[in-house]
Amino acid sequence: MQLAELTTLRVGGPAERFVEATTVDALVEAVLEADAVGEPWLVLGGGSNVLVGDEGVEGVVVRVATRGIERLADVSGSARPVRLRVQAGESWDALVAHTVEYGWAGIEALSGIPGSTGAAPIQNIGAYGQDLAESLVSVEVLDIESGERRTVPAPDLELGYRTSALKQGWRAVVLSVDLALERTDGARSRPVGYAQLADALGVSVGDRAPLAGVRSAVLALRASKGMVLDEHDPQSVSAGSFFTNPIVTESFALRLPGDAPRWPQQPEPAPLVVPLGSEPATPPEPVEGTVKLSAAWLIEHAGIARGFALPGSGASVSTKHTLALTNASGRATAGEVAELARYIQTRVASEFGVVLHPEPVFVGIAL
Ligand SMILES: Cc1cc2nc3c(=O)[nH]c(=O)nc-3n(C[C@H](O)[C@H](O)[C@H](O)COP(=O)(O)OP(=O)(O)OC[C@H]3O[C@@H](n4cnc5c(N)ncnc54)[C@H](O)[C@@H]3O)c2cc1C
Repeated sequence: MQLAELTTLRVGGPAERFVEATTVDALVEAVLEADAVGEPWLVLGGGSNVLVGDEGVEGVVVRVATRGIERLADVSGSARPVRLRVQAGESWDALVAHTVEYGWAGIEALSGIPGSTGAAPIQNIGAYGQDLAESLVSVEVLDIESGERRTVPAPDLELGYRTSALKQGWRAVVLSVDLALERTDGARSRPVGYAQLADALGVSVGDRAPLAGVRSAVLALRASKGMVLDEHDPQSVSAGSFFTNPIVTESFALRLPGDAPRWPQQPEPAPLVVPLGSEPATPPEPVEGTVKLSAAWLIEHAGIARGFALPGSGASVSTKHTLALTNASGRATAGEVAELARYIQTRVASEFGVVLHPEPVFVGIAL
């Protein structure tokens, strides 16, 4: 099996061995058996957030194809009483469509994100002012070290901006995801948290809007950026945003051009270390705040235009969105995608002193 057939970038060499797991038991067994004999394994959902090398993957690729959306008992008195348990292999976007149809709010702004539900916690998917963390109650995982299945509450997953403990190296497979959603009068959305989406809906940030309208507006915005998978749009042959928005200190951001977009982040409180038996004498030092920068702005202002490609390369910057690296030509290799990514990193670092970090997971290839 060529991984190019299983990834949205349509690059990647062969898998030594391939298993499609349609039941939780088969998924658990495939991973544990491989791990027990030291065979490398890779769990794959929709392949929409990976860059797989041209040499392919050693060991076994286990594709998660488990299905099922179960409605659990409502939790009365909760602001988000509707509880769903979703199997890892369910399509994320089909799940969002289902919740919108039933009038449940919480994940409507995450419409159009490709991939599986089990992969959603890996980088705490987010878009248009929402992220998974807001609606995630817990996940059931297969913990590789213990070989056991257990339920992990969302706060223990260290979910952050495009990250989690799972993305940071905790060896576990997500088997199912529990969500808590709001039931609103007249199928209204959660308060809209993103200016561009609010504009498209003709409401103010913080207002609610019809759920179905939010979903359509998000899908339309995403389509205009090539950010929704569309077989007729070669610009969507990508892994979505290739770089995360960098987070830097306020003092560093002050040295950037005044028109560089920046969004202040919640400052982390400084750890307060108090020797046993004593009282804190002085209040902790204030911590310097951080700001999130726009990776797209940095790339464009480092001189890399939409549609840019290195000479002779099949990989290119999307003509619709600077942050997406595409295989719009249909002939890119993973090596060419990585080469383009490195070139962009170098240009941005030398122009602004900011190192861009890739968002997709790299398998058998490095930057
Ligand atoms: C056009 C486009 C637009 C996108 N837009 C967004 C966006 O707006 N916001 C956003 O956050 N992301 C976005 N993405 C990225 C991607 O869709 C998400 O990260 C998605 O959650 C990946 O799901 P997947 O099933 O395809 O994961 P895969 O690509 O198959 O896997 C990604 C990683 O997760 C691991 N993994 C997958 N399933 C499991 C599991 N069950 N248990 C443990 N590990 C697992 C894999 O081993 C791999 O390391 C976009 C991608 C594309 C192509």
